[in-house]
This record gives sequence, C-alpha cells and structure tokens, in this order.
Amino acid sequence: MSRLIRAVIDTQALRHNLSTIRVRAGSARVMAVVKANAYGHGLVPTALALAGADAFGVARLEEGLALRAAGIKAPIMLLEGVFSAEQLGEAARQNLELAVHDPFQIGLLENFPRLKRLVLWIKVDTGMNRLGFAPSEFVGALARLRALVAHEIRLLTHLACADERANPMTQMQLTRWREATRGLNYPTSIANSPGLFGDAQVGGDWVRPGLALYGASPFSDRLAGDLGLKPVMTLTTSVIAVRRVPRGERVGYGGVWMAERDSIIAIVAAGYGDGLPRSFENGAPVLVGGVRAPLVGRVSMDMIAVDVTGRTDVRVGTEAVLWGAGLPVEEMARHAGTIPYELLCSVSQRVPLEPR
Ligand SMILES: *Cc1c(COP(=O)(O)O)cnc(C)c1O
Repeated sequence: MSRLIRAVIDTQALRHNLSTIRVRAGSARVMAVVKANAYGHGLVPTALALAGADAFGVARLEEGLALRAAGIKAPIMLLEGVFSAEQLGEAARQNLELAVHDPFQIGLLENFPRLKRLVLWIKVDTGMNRLGFAPSEFVGALARLRALVAHEIRLLTHLACADERANPMTQMQLTRWREATRGLNYPTSIANSPGLFGDAQVGGDWVRPGLALYGASPFSDRLAGDLGLKPVMTLTTSVIAVRRVPRGERVGYGGVWMAERDSIIAIVAAGYGDGLPRSFENGAPVLVGGVRAPLVGRVSMDMIAVDVTGRTDVRVGTEAVLWGAGLPVEEMARHAGTIPYELLCSVSQRVPLEPR
C-alpha cells in the first residue's frame, strides 16, 4: 500500500519559480512572501529553499521570529507591522522591517526616540481601503516618521484587483500612487503576483510575490504554466477501497450522487479534515493513477469517492492526486468556488509536508 495523504513539496520548482519571477521583475528586487506557513508549504523549509530571495515578507511578528530562530539572516518585513511596544522591541532586536499603516504605529515609534535604525515601509492606501494612509494623510505620516531618528523609509501600496486583468481599478490605483509619491525619492514596492504578471506596467524597486512562488496563477484565464511557473505542492494520497455500486444506489452523506449505471467507485483517503473544501462539486477531477476521474458525492472528513467505472487499473493503494503536478490547483479552486490561495493555505496540520 502506498502512503496516505501528504503534501509533496518540490523545492526545485520553488527555485525555478523564483528565477521566473526575477526575469519578470527586471531590475526590481524580490521580497518572497512566505506568510501563512508559506501558503501552506512550510514556513522555514520554504524560506531556506528560497535563500536566493532578496528579502522575505510575513504577515505577523511570530512568523518573522520563526525565520530568525531558524537562522535566516535575510531582511524580513512584517507586512502588517507591530501593535505594541513589546512587539516593536522584539522586532527591533531581531532586525525586522516594519510596515507602518496606521497612526497608532507611528505613535509606538515616537515613544521610542532612541530606537535603533529600522527599515520602515509606509503603506499608502491607493483604493483598497484595507491598510494604509489615504493619500491625504500620507504627507503627515511621512513628516512624523521623518522627524524620528534616521529610520530608513520606503513606500508601498497594495493592488486590490490586479488579478482581473481588465479591471480599471489597477490603473486608478497607479494614478493615485504616482500623485501621492510624486517628487519623493524613497524605494518603492507595488506589485504582488498579479501585479507582476499582469499587463499593467506596475513598476517599483521591490516586488512582493507570494502565490507565483508556489507555482499557481492568480488569473482566472491563465494557468501557471502559461506564466512559466511550476506547481510546488502536490497533494497526494491513495485509494483505500474499490467497490461496485449498482445502478440506482447512492454514494456518501446525504446520498447526493446516484449511480446512473452500474459503477465502480474508488474511495480516496482525503477529506475536509485534511483541508479539502467540502464545497468541491461533483465532477471535480481527481488524478487517480495518473488519469482524471470525477468526484462523486459529498466530501467527508477523511474520504472522498471517485467514479472509476470502466477502469481495471484502480485498486487499493493506487495513487490519487488532489492537486499539483498534472492537476493545477487553480483549476481545482474553481471547482470549489474559491481561489488557489485558499486551497493551499487550508491544507491541515495532520497532512505531512514532504520535500521531494
Ligand atoms: C500577501 C501579500 C502579498 C503577496 O500577494 P500574492 O498575490 O500572493 O503575490 C504581497 N503584498 C502584501 C502586502 C500581501 O499582504
């Protein structure tokens, strides 16, 4: 019997994607975004595999500390910054770069006038209305930060709709950005993965890719392969039962799927307890023994059922791939009404991550 569910991590694909990103980024530097356990790929092993990145981006202090504890010396930015004096002290001790997006955070810095020199990324809100200073507030925020010790100041913004290639929002945000930063001479960063691989000339001295590193496309009309990216995670498991289901019988909870013919159903060891969305629709493909077979019935906690009628090669132990090599995660996301980001981040704790 081959092994049950695991996420095989192709570190060579990670490095390949980083070099594809480098080509795309031109002279811009690359901050590899490894928040949320590196989008489910394992924070520390991913960062170690991406040692060629110019910096790492994480959402929260604990993630930055974990990287430092693993001996990573590269610059690390906290994309949400810090929220208390204790966090600021810890971030300073560990040499973490900070996003500054709220007057509260400026206040924290002002309370430590003798703090060591830090890299501060001031976030300008150009239309996403999530984090950052509105252009009208930005001037004042910048003045307050410049009045402190000589911290190194950089500027960033975040794009809300760059994954929709034709959405005019991106141009609107870029216009607001140019107006807000005109005449200023600080290093800048704008592009996430869709900003980097989209049609707009986004620019900036740093790019901040996450999803693209992991070999998934942020666009609904392009697969990773079209962008020169290779899938990093292959979520793979095994068939644990093969059974005949006579015509008219139903499969799984709620009996939502009925056999229209005498069928052969393979039971596969993967369920929502592993992070599969329960919303996977009937007909979603599963790669059983390298061939696509449709999901039937509801996703259970530990199992799914797949229709392999007409096949003679499927038996207990046959490999079943949920997404990854040969089955793009962005395609699977569509079958669950979600985005590849969510599928990758949802892989649960009980699924071992295995370098390939
Ligand atoms: C998560 C994040 C990114 C990376 O986004 P992708 O779409 O995964 O490339 C970049 N910048 C910020 C501020 C983020 O929060």
